[in-house]
Amino acid sequence: MRIKTVKAQRLSNFNSIGRDYDVIYLKNSSELHDIANNFIILGNGTNSLFVSEQSNPFVSLKEMTAVKFLNSYTIEAEAGILLPNLITQLKKKSLGGLEFTYPVPATLGAAVYQNFGAFGKEIGFMVKKVTVFDKTEQRFYSIDTHNTAEYFFYRDSYFKQHQLVITNITMELPTLSEHEVNDQLNAISNKRQSIYPLKKTLGSIFLNTPECSAGKLLDEAGLKGKVHNGAYVSEQHANIIINKSASSEDIYDLIQLMKTSVKKKANISLKEEIFIY
Ligand SMILES: Cc1cc2nc3c(=O)[nH]c(=O)nc-3n(C[C@H](O)[C@H](O)[C@H](O)COP(=O)(O)OP(=O)(O)OC[C@H]3O[C@@H](n4cnc5c(N)ncnc54)[C@H](O)[C@@H]3O)c2cc1C
Repeated sequence: MRIKTVKAQRLSNFNSIGRDYDVIYLKNSSELHDIANNFIILGNGTNSLFVSEQSNPFVSLKEMTAVKFLNSYTIEAEAGILLPNLITQLKKKSLGGLEFTYPVPATLGAAVYQNFGAFGKEIGFMVKKVTVFDKTEQRFYSIDTHNTAEYFFYRDSYFKQHQLVITNITMELPTLSEHEVNDQLNAISNKRQSIYPLKKTLGSIFLNTPECSAGKLLDEAGLKGKVHNGAYVSEQHANIIINKSASSEDIYDLIQLMKTSVKKKANISLKEEIFIY
């Protein structure tokens, strides 16, 4: 393992300006035994905002990216691999299934932790076994997740609810030709870009509510295009913040403003989908 001090703006492509953080980069999962159990796991930071000083270090699994092809449709991958890189490797073996995530540069581990979903699909349906590290018990074990409904929920999972560190994921994937995968990647990428800009965002800031989508509530509260220092709410989609040159604190303040505006207008309390540290 190696330890590095990293500026907030280098922890994700969102690049909001902030403090320095200590990050421990692991080479393999067994190193989890060698660190104190008060760490915070970091994926690729696409859904994370780094605001406050942290007394505990971040641990990154981004250097753990191995993929094993177990049979013609089953793979086992390490949690740190980025989804676009995994898609590229799968394509070469005529496997698909993850196109709906494209081109979001999330790690596989975080995508499983949050049950990444889009366009009517969720990653949990393809996940058959998850190996985890339990920080409290200081041990590894594997969980059979064939019974999807027991382990995966809307932007949530058993692993998130139990604060488990995901180290390896076994997935069963559909056979697709490289040509079919490429067609789907283009279609999904175009569709995403028509909904909101993909660069310098954190994805959806808030979870949808049972009554209504967060985007609609924010739109009705007049948030589209709202500017705050170096950031603004997308004119295309009111649940998306675009960063131009803002600090993490500026983004945090804009999030609070969005929340209070919806509370005032619709008397609904929005809950963040993103993780704020
Ligand atoms: C442009 C854009 C579009 C997006 N579109 C979608 C979408 O369509 N659907 C969707 O669901 N999400 C979407 N997202 C949100 C986000 O990318 C995902 O939810 C993704 O899972 C976050 O991955 P990450 O590696 O960046 O995680 P991070 O932001 O680094 O971490 C997110 C959380 O996961 C935890 N975590 C990370 N790795 C592990 C692990 N191995 N074990 C346990 N916990 C872990 C972290 O502690 C943190 O709590 C989008 C984001 C962006 C920027």
